[in-house]
Amino acid sequence: MPINVAIDGPAGAGKSSIARAAAKRLGYIYVDTGALYRAVGVYSLRNGVDTKNAEAVTGTLPHICVDLKFQDGVQHVYLNDEDVSEEIRTPPASMAASDVSAVPAVRQFLFDLQRDIAAKNDCIMDGRDIGTVVLPDAQVKIFLTASPEARAMRRFLELQQKGAKDTYAEVLADLVQRDYNDSHRAVAPLKPAEDGVTVDNSGLSLDDSIEQVLAVIRETLAAKQA
Ligand code: C5P
Repeated sequence: MPINVAIDGPAGAGKSSIARAAAKRLGYIYVDTGALYRAVGVYSLRNGVDTKNAEAVTGTLPHICVDLKFQDGVQHVYLNDEDVSEEIRTPPASMAASDVSAVPAVRQFLFDLQRDIAAKNDCIMDGRDIGTVVLPDAQVKIFLTASPEARAMRRFLELQQKGAKDTYAEVLADLVQRDYNDSHRAVAPLKPAEDGVTVDNSGLSLDDSIEQVLAVIRETLAAKQA
């Protein structure tokens, strides 16, 4: 049976950087499930569909095919056979993803794809509901978090490097809004799994966060084998 590690947590906790590096060290694939919700959101943005209108968003699903492909260990997300891995990273795509992810039909639509990948591969899968809903039997479950200010500062620096003009205050407000949306929605809200480990990396460097997550994974797997 493949080894599945679930890493959940709020936006900007460093999940993707940490999970990607940890997966590489362990020889597992890294699956970023946020990219799937982002791709669904991008379809609505491109087609002028109101992402806050659940019925309208549900209506887009029959026109959408979302897939993940791994090229040299790097995940690419495809929307109707087009690689949208770059386009899904803009702030409007983040907000659209947060909106569409509250629609039950969207979560259902993406469920099997996530389960299938995990059933076939040793993987670290990151998201919001991986340990609680998608992979309730994952051998390791980590809830990765940090203070809103620490998370907003990381996001802000990342966007600045890409030449974006967003201010720190805008990034913080955006993130607080997404945290609220993600943890208050009716389906699969963001929350730690009862049988998981919480890691707060507010004061930790990226390297130290990676080591801490690797330590939790190794210790949890060793305890299960003992
Ligand atoms: O992780 P990322 O910021 O790319 O996720 C974008 C949005 O997709 C999140 O704000 C969240 O609303 C949604 N999401 C989700 N469940 C997941 C992964 C992401 O609801 N497993």
